[in-house]
Amino acid sequence: MKSAVIALTFLPAALLAQEALPSGSHIHGTGHLSIIISEGAFTLMLQVPGADVVGFEEAAETDADRERVAAAVSDLSKPLELFALPTEAGCAAVSANVALVGEGLRPQTDTAEESHTEFQADYVVQCDDINAATVMEFPYFERFEMAQRLTVKMATSTDERTFEVSREMPVLNLLDAQ
Ligand SMILES: [Zn+2]
Repeated sequence: MKSAVIALTFLPAALLAQEALPSGSHIHGTGHLSIIISEGAFTLMLQVPGADVVGFEEAAETDADRERVAAAVSDLSKPLELFALPTEAGCAAVSANVALVGEGLRPQTDTAEESHTEFQADYVVQCDDINAATVMEFPYFERFEMAQRLTVKMATSTDERTFEVSREMPVLNLLDAQ
């Protein structure tokens, strides 16, 4: 254990920043999606590193950076274009909130070098026939090319399970929650 600690000490901070927050709570490439299935509706909560969404987490410095952030917020506010449900289920987003959380992606400060930023979003999706919503597909990975995987926590009133979807396997069987 001792040698592991010493090795970490000598890792350049910039290298650490590629991997995770000092707290270890955020790994670039990996986002988190929580799905609560209730009668007639899905409640979704998304938490994803800025690196996955726009490719950077420091303050947007150029017009191109600012446009990337604005386009990402716009696209993140359309959940069914990222987390697709079967047409026959007749689902529609009834609320969508997108927020930027963290020290980056905002006007430059003198400590911006180490900043980490996450996009967080929550959605309510209502469906005419939720029983027809048997599968969720993830065009999310096509839209956000730096994103590699999503840890998905799926909960019903009686059960909660965790799954992983990835760029290679961008599909979730919603019947697995039941
Ligand atoms: Zn980060």
